[in-house]
Amino acid sequence: MTTVVCELCPRYCAIPDGGAGDCRVRINLDGKLIATTFARPSSVHIDPMEKKPLFHFLPGTSIFSIATAGCNLHCKNCQNWQLSQHSGEEMDTIFKAPPELIVKTAITQSCSSIAYTYSEPLIFYEYVNETAIIAHHRGLKNVLVTAGYVNETPLRQLCKNLDAANVDLKAFDDNFYRQVCGATLKPVLDALVVLRQEEVWLEITNLIIPGLNDDLSMVRRMATWIRDELGKDTPLHLSRFSPQYQMRNIPPTPSEALRRSREEAMNVGLEHVYVGNLPGDDSESTYCPIDGTLLIKRYGFTIQNYNLLKGGRCPTCKHKISGVWL
Ligand code: SF4
Repeated sequence: MTTVVCELCPRYCAIPDGGAGDCRVRINLDGKLIATTFARPSSVHIDPMEKKPLFHFLPGTSIFSIATAGCNLHCKNCQNWQLSQHSGEEMDTIFKAPPELIVKTAITQSCSSIAYTYSEPLIFYEYVNETAIIAHHRGLKNVLVTAGYVNETPLRQLCKNLDAANVDLKAFDDNFYRQVCGATLKPVLDALVVLRQEEVWLEITNLIIPGLNDDLSMVRRMATWIRDELGKDTPLHLSRFSPQYQMRNIPPTPSEALRRSREEAMNVGLEHVYVGNLPGDDSESTYCPIDGTLLIKRYGFTIQNYNLLKGGRCPTCKHKISGVWL
């Protein structure tokens, strides 16, 4: 009986023969660590890039999105808990889809990118990595939508074939991570720094939950850290909470609380702070940080008006907006 230790995420699960790690999908099979979800997606969809959310990366394009079961976090407010809190064995998978088939289908569907998303892609690491390598060979981009709870070495390896990431920074508070997510904050901050160092285009999402992480001083500390460690041009998406899973007793985030948080983050110096899940709000759009010109007008995930010049320059002052543009 050989126990194997998984070094993918900070949990470092010691998995006995025949057992599974905390994420449920990485198992010890005869002394070998394997992911049961390899080539077994539980969810496949074509989304607008804006839904990831990525607002400064190939805006208006379609992205082929895949997910498997399992997660290495256990957030009480999970929006995809039917997917994330189960193992692949407990769920019907849609079809066997080896990496080659995923890439081929994405191309057939006129998608220029593939997203590894919905649940936690880092725990189907090998599937992501192999698919991403093939996708790059075929000229597609790769996008990771993640909670960022991962160790440095595997993340740096994965970055070689990543083009963009949206990381869910759940709160700027270790107690929140421990009590709501069953995880810790520091590895997520370390992962954000690694993504920036490896020059993966990075955007951050922070879901604001009333009474738990909506304190303005926390928003200020988070925005200050982002400005100082990642850069003031890092887009931040402040997203509206809606009652889910084990947090059905908490009301949706009031729109005023989202707007106040946005103002706080912008006062700290972040250039692009968006409010999410509030369709029609002005804060869904992109403005020039120099002269305030409206550059991309959005309604929800739809682009209504695109005013950026080629290369992402403001048409008024010619300032280059950070991002990856068409
Ligand atoms: S990825 Fe899964 S098995 Fe590996 S250490 Fe993390 S929770 Fe444990």
